Amino acid sequence: MIIYDVTMTIHEGMQVYKNNPEKKPEYKVTRDFKDSPAHESRLAMDMHTGTHLDMPLHFLPDGQTVETLDLTRVVTGCRVLDLSHVEDAIHADDLVPFNIQPDETILFKTRNSAVNQFDPGFVYLAEDGAKLLVELGINCVGIDGLGIERSQANYGTHKSLLGADIVIIEGLRLQEINQGYYFLVAAPLKIAGAEAAPMRALLIERDNPNAASDENPLISL
Ligand SMILES: [Zn+2]
Repeated sequence: MIIYDVTMTIHEGMQVYKNNPEKKPEYKVTRDFKDSPAHESRLAMDMHTGTHLDMPLHFLPDGQTVETLDLTRVVTGCRVLDLSHVEDAIHADDLVPFNIQPDETILFKTRNSAVNQFDPGFVYLAEDGAKLLVELGINCVGIDGLGIERSQANYGTHKSLLGADIVIIEGLRLQEINQGYYFLVAAPLKIAGAEAAPMRALLIERDNPNAASDENPLISL
């Protein structure tokens, strides 16, 4: 079994959405060995920091919050699609060739994974791509940008996906990951009432990744 950590490392200098200084995490040591027998620290950060999950409340006023998430939605088989060639936005036409199936969990590997600083021109999922995923009835979609959409006036991508109860994962790091099937562990922190939460995201590959995985993407370990 091979475990890939596809999580962004949280630190004060990390990339944050639109490079907004208010969104930078603040890490503070509150006790250390100079005057204490223990080391303790505190972290203040936006819920959408680094690799994180968006819940419906992010864009829907009565939407569900993160502590209610059924973990079978994010501890599950998944498929990484290599969309490194996409320059700007992922459209429905880019997704059709992959023959995406109902209930699949799909992670987009794009050129976003190759950079560690915020790129205002990051690759995102266009609304027509989101609508296709809704029609197909997928379980979850993940992307390696800090947002799944960028400067869309009506937030159509978020609203389409969240309105259809599709889980959104943002901020994945997929540079080292090849296209194919994996087992995903993407449990967000259990924070009451929150519209989003950071996570440690893992992709697990069986020693023989070809064994049956093409036939049944919902592999079990
Ligand atoms: Zn978010």
